Amino acid sequence: MQIADKTVVKIDYTVRNSDGVLIDTSEEREPLAYLHGFNNIIPGLEQSLTGKAEGDKFTVSVEPANAYGERNDELVKVVPKQAFQGVDKIEAGMQFQAESPQGPQMITVSKVEGDDVTVDGNHPLAGQTLKFEVEVMEVREASEDEIAHGHAHGPEGH
Ligand code: ZN
Repeated sequence: MQIADKTVVKIDYTVRNSDGVLIDTSEEREPLAYLHGFNNIIPGLEQSLTGKAEGDKFTVSVEPANAYGERNDELVKVVPKQAFQGVDKIEAGMQFQAESPQGPQMITVSKVEGDDVTVDGNHPLAGQTLKFEVEVMEVREASEDEIAHGHAHGPEGH
């Protein structure tokens, strides 16, 4: 059976950035099961899976626009240390949940200089071209419930 809209697909995958650094892998976990055609995975990966079948193995390179988006420099801001009340020590690499007009947003501290803290609201993978190695483990028709809910169900339901 071929992958098309309203099929549930199980894949094993490994994803690296353009420098070959490992970002994520399903190895030693369960394969990822998702409902195809419902934007449950990044667009570039979903498109590349259309028409594939169980047993297919392939690699695909996904540009930022079809992954986590381009970096937006407007999301990088310098804020005073006092903005982080209740945090003992601010260090590069720390992540915080912040309120933004678009709702909760994850921000990463990218630099600390004296009282100036540079924060970055971009997704950590924004601007990155991602290289996926994929193996299609299973393809099946989605159930009516799955289509109604817009996601895949496991053997025990949700
Ligand atoms: Zn559901």
